Amino acid sequence: MKIEQIINTLEARHPGENEYLQAVREVLVTIQDVYNEHPEFEKSQIIERLVEPDRIFTFKVSWTDDRGNVQVNLGYRIQFNNAIGPYKGGLRFHPSVNPSILKFLGFEQIFKNSLTTLPMGGAKGGSDFNPKGKSDAEVMRFCQAFMLELWRYIGPETDVPAGDIGVGGREIAYLYGMYRKLARENTGVLTGKNMEFGGSLVRPEATGFGGLYFVNQMLETAGQSIKGKTIAISGFGNVAWGAALKATELGAKVVTISGPDGYIYDEKGISGEKIDYMLELRATCNDIVSPYAQEFGAVFVAGRRPWEVKVDIALPCATQNELNGDDARKLIENGVMCVGEISNMGCTPEAIDLFIENKIMYGPGKAVNAGGVATSGLEMTQNAMHLSWSAAEVDAKLQQIMHDIHEQCVRHGRQTDGYINYMKGANVAGFLKVAKAMLAQGIV
Ligand code: GLU
Repeated sequence: MKIEQIINTLEARHPGENEYLQAVREVLVTIQDVYNEHPEFEKSQIIERLVEPDRIFTFKVSWTDDRGNVQVNLGYRIQFNNAIGPYKGGLRFHPSVNPSILKFLGFEQIFKNSLTTLPMGGAKGGSDFNPKGKSDAEVMRFCQAFMLELWRYIGPETDVPAGDIGVGGREIAYLYGMYRKLARENTGVLTGKNMEFGGSLVRPEATGFGGLYFVNQMLETAGQSIKGKTIAISGFGNVAWGAALKATELGAKVVTISGPDGYIYDEKGISGEKIDYMLELRATCNDIVSPYAQEFGAVFVAGRRPWEVKVDIALPCATQNELNGDDARKLIENGVMCVGEISNMGCTPEAIDLFIENKIMYGPGKAVNAGGVATSGLEMTQNAMHLSWSAAEVDAKLQQIMHDIHEQCVRHGRQTDGYINYMKGANVAGFLKVAKAMLAQGIV
């Protein structure tokens, strides 16, 4: 495979789309051996066809704020690849949203969704709209205006959006309400819905829970136990909350959470009501974690990230590239044994290289955080059957899926020295399924 040539072509076509190029490069480097073993892939130009999205919808979203001022945002939906199932992936509402970020997320989603063992293709979408500090009425008007544009491109068997950063139950509900009105259909067109209208139990916790099931499995495979281990978590949103809940349940001690203002170090452990307090912090809309320190008598470290704390396990749960080479060096110096990305592309390439060189267990986001979209897949199944499963049933299926993802990573990632390169394993396993489907379906 001519990786540099492919990257150069992409760079020329899409200048400055750094996150997208970063995600593509990581996958190409890790799959090149298996790709070269299959000349039929090259013949069908599988990579050239895989790295470009099938289509991108860009639209203007005009809405009126509470003071009567007209606001204009941009909306996007990137349908990346649907070789193995309908397009599937979240919507991100955040001021940083641009085509590069959504293309990296959509590209990752192809492999992640393939790993879940469920029939889902890859997509992503969103807007540069910032829901922080907006009233419910403003969020509703924005979501309605956004869906007025989006609804023609999606459908329960075509493209099924869900949440991501800035899009939670409230936003999904407003988006769904508008879709239902426009399409005059009650279908599983969005996942992450409330329980009253087709949502799935365990979906809100699923990304964090799945992440911990995966990390637990990594440790067990290495002959270790999660019990009694200390964990640094970043972020304090829905994903961090689910991760803290399950980590505590499994007997580990979570000592950090973080926000844009800095991080909290709570040596007594973030458990019980302290975990629920994260939801209260969210609800205030100020996007800061510092109030936790006053509330529970913990340390607040302003303007820094939690990776300088000595812990056994580090779990990035916030956003892309939130753990860099310096952070990785610090964690390694402090004896970290396992890093599980619960955010998408949470670690920079330099950090990943350092973990792998130092034989630290490192789980990439597309495997570790796949529990979220997997449970979305289970929501789609329940909607298609017009019934809903109990929490125990959904959780059992989630655990089985995370177990199967782990198995695939081990199968394709175990090196001759016994070290498991989970990044390689996840990329190869995710890629092979999609590539074989594309090959079988011809040039379309
Ligand atoms: N945004 C989540 C992800 O990155 C969930 C997507 C979904 O449920 O469709 O996988």
